[in-house]
Parts: sequence; C-alpha cells; structure tokens
Amino acid sequence: MTDDVSYAHLLGARLRHFRGLARMTLDDLASALGTSPSRISLIENGHREPRPSELPTFARALGVSVEDLLVLTAPNERASEELELRRMQASPVFASLGLPKVKIGRGMSDDVLGLLVGLHRELERRATTASATPEEARLRNTEQRAMMRSKNNYLPDIEAIAEEQLKRIGHEAGALTHREVHLMVEQLGLEVVYVDDLPHSTRSITDLENGRIYLPPASIPGGHGLRSIALQAVAHRLLEHTPPKSYADFLHQRLQINYFAAACLMPQRQSVEFLGARKQARDLAVEDFRDAFGTTHEAAALRMTNLMTQHFGIGVHFLRVGPDGEVLKAYENNNLPLPVDVTGAVEGQIVCRKWGARRAVEVAHRTTEFWQYTDTHAGTFWSSTQTGHSSGGPFSITFGVPFDDARFFRGRETANRQTSTCPDPACCRRPPRDLEAQWAGRAWPSARLHAQILASLPTGRFPGVDETEIYNYLERHSRS
Ligand SMILES: [Zn+2]
Repeated sequence: MTDDVSYAHLLGARLRHFRGLARMTLDDLASALGTSPSRISLIENGHREPRPSELPTFARALGVSVEDLLVLTAPNERASEELELRRMQASPVFASLGLPKVKIGRGMSDDVLGLLVGLHRELERRATTASATPEEARLRNTEQRAMMRSKNNYLPDIEAIAEEQLKRIGHEAGALTHREVHLMVEQLGLEVVYVDDLPHSTRSITDLENGRIYLPPASIPGGHGLRSIALQAVAHRLLEHTPPKSYADFLHQRLQINYFAAACLMPQRQSVEFLGARKQARDLAVEDFRDAFGTTHEAAALRMTNLMTQHFGIGVHFLRVGPDGEVLKAYENNNLPLPVDVTGAVEGQIVCRKWGARRAVEVAHRTTEFWQYTDTHAGTFWSSTQTGHSSGGPFSITFGVPFDDARFFRGRETANRQTSTCPDPACCRRPPRDLEAQWAGRAWPSARLHAQILASLPTGRFPGVDETEIYNYLERHSRS
C-alpha cells in the first residue's frame, strides 16, 4: 500500500497517531512547536509536509524518535483504512464512475469507513474479473506469444537467476535431483510438506507466514512432475510475485515460473553443451535431450525452443495438438504458417490434417518419434512428433525446423513428405466429392466445445482458484 499513498499522507497519519498517544491537542502541539494549529492540521492530513529540519522538534514534542515518525507504514488500523480509501478514491476505476469523493477524516465513523473500504475492494475485484473474458484471455495469449517471439523465446534474466540458484546448491551436471530441489527450497528458508488433500484448483500452495510449500504426494514414486511443481512455487517467491492485477499479469507470471523450472531442470550451460555436441554429430533428437535431463518430452521440446535460436541460430516451432487436431499450445519463429483466427489467436484452431502433428497420431508407433517433411506456401519444414495419451484423449508434441536445418537432426533421412496448402479449404477441409454428394444437407452434427480452451479463465485475485478454500486449507494445516 505504501506504493500508492504519498509519503505526506503516511507521515501525517503517523504524526496524528503519536499526538493522540501523547494526549496532546492541535493547540498543545502547535504551541510546543511555535507554529499554528491550522498548519499542524494541514500536515496531519497530508496537505503539507514538515521541513526535514523540523522533524527532530516534532519527535521531541511527541516523545518519540525521528525514526518512529519515518517508518512508512500506517500506525494503526484506522489510519491504514483511511489511507486505503484515499488511494481507492484516486483510482481510475473509481474516477470512471463519476461519483463525488467523500471527505476522509475523523468525522467519519469506523463503521462507515469499513463499509466504504469493503465496497471499494469489491469494486476493484469486479473490475479485474470482468476484464478476463475469453476474448481478453485469447488476446493476451497472442500478445504474450508475440512478445516471446521477439525475444526468440529466451529470457536471460531468468536464466541467470536459475544459474545462480544451481550454483548455490552446487549442481554441476546431469539431471537435477529431488534432493537438490529440496536443498534449493531450504536455502530460501522454506520447507516442502507433502499432503494428499490439496484443493483441486491448485498445484501447490505456499504458506508465506510459516515458510512451507505444500505439494501433492508423488503418484509415481520418483516421478518427475514434483520437481517442476516445487521449482515453480520457488519461482513465485524468487521473482517476488504479487497477486496478478490482470490476466496479462497472470499469464506472464505463469510463463516466468515455467521458464524458471525448465531452466533449473535443464540448465543452460549443460543443455547447450549437450545440444551443441549432438548438433556437431548431426544427431539431435528431442527424446535424447529429454532422457539426458530426466524431463517430459513436452518440457524438453519447449526448452529447445528457448535455446536453439539463441545459441545455434536455428528457427524452431513447437506444437501441442489435441485429439481433434486442435492447437493446445504453439510457438514458432521460423514462419511455419500456424492456423490463426481473426484475432491472431492459435489456441483451438485446427491444424492441417497433413502436418506431422496430426499424421503421427494416425500412423506412428507410440514409442518412437514420427518424422516428416511438409511443404507449405512458406517453405518446407522438417518435424519430429511424439504422440501420447492423456485423460482428454490422444495428443501429440511436435518440434520442427526449416528444411535447411533438418541436417542436424536424427530422422532427416525420412521418406515421409506431405504437401499442405492450408488455409486453402481444398487442402484438407473439404470432404471427398463422392461423400459430399452423398451426405450434404443430410447430416447435423452438434459440436463439442473444447473445454480446455475456455475453462481456465481467471476469477478473483488468484485466477482459477478459490481463495476461501486456500485460506481454510492453510488454517487447518498451519496448526499441525
Ligand atoms: Zn491442410
């Protein structure tokens, strides 16, 4: 709150507070200081600032130290609420209502002050929530992807923070172990507590008061997922995140914590050494990178999008595609023509049936990568796709590069080649003529919405999460 309320207001509130404790009237203090009561009143209301040279005199008259006066926090709850109301009345959200401001001062009862502050808080909460429509969410996603594209999906600041943390725990080579993640957590003055009753809407909860990170138990002993969740929780703390003020903020924080976790699990220096050696040997493969660092295929492919352009000058693309061919996640900086809607969003758009991302689901054996060259109007691309199966159905993870860079990758000699002319409907959207003649006008499908695209819209301070549930949870657990 100190950011939003001026120094003069805080100082004034503290002077009034200490004058009350000293049982002095305005007149008493004014005569002790040789000034007028009206000037003291202006100072206490934050309309004037005392000269710095006067502060020792003020402090002596009130029987406190100069430091007591200068601490930049509200001296008591009443003053804190008055300052909060002052800030809220100055906010753009309030200004947009065109309502008059109320005079804040001793004439206002505690009840009325409490009521106004409560209403303002609700007003701010609703203003934040209302902006998080699906359109807003898609727009912010698109903006964020464009921002990351301009940085080659590489964030040097977070790489540096991750490297610093890894150095502190003495991690030198190989996969980051659960033990090392715990060390990192301990060095930050936190402890990890495994619980099996985390609220459904959360992946982890950090109790800032008692320094604990609550994590779910491993469903598979030694499973990799937990390291990532613990690192993400650590990242919120290391990057000094505060509750997101907008959906864009929320997305940015999520990107940062995911990036930090990846940069710890696949450290920059070791990863670049590994990838560089494989490139030299012309035997690059996402699956080897994945296995060398003990992560998921998706995490490894995404990490390669962070490093391949920055360190090797290779343009890349990444796709996670769902059971109906819809894009769940995508990134490119090699001009692969991703399907986009009118707003530029790719999430939920249907990928060309001829791309490796979809052909792999039909033809590939689930344990091996599926390689393919695809000719498009933007050039020829090589890609490697791994398929999998989740509760939502089959999905595929694709990593790809332009034709010229395929020479560094395992699978470059594949004979699989397809031509895609999407978004031309004749490419793969239009049914075969005979089927169309048979069925046109005789079928009525009812569409299923892709829940995952619209589902995780934020509400409240912590998007997608029930705050009451969280606080109740911490109440119960902090006592044990
Ligand atoms: Zn197509």
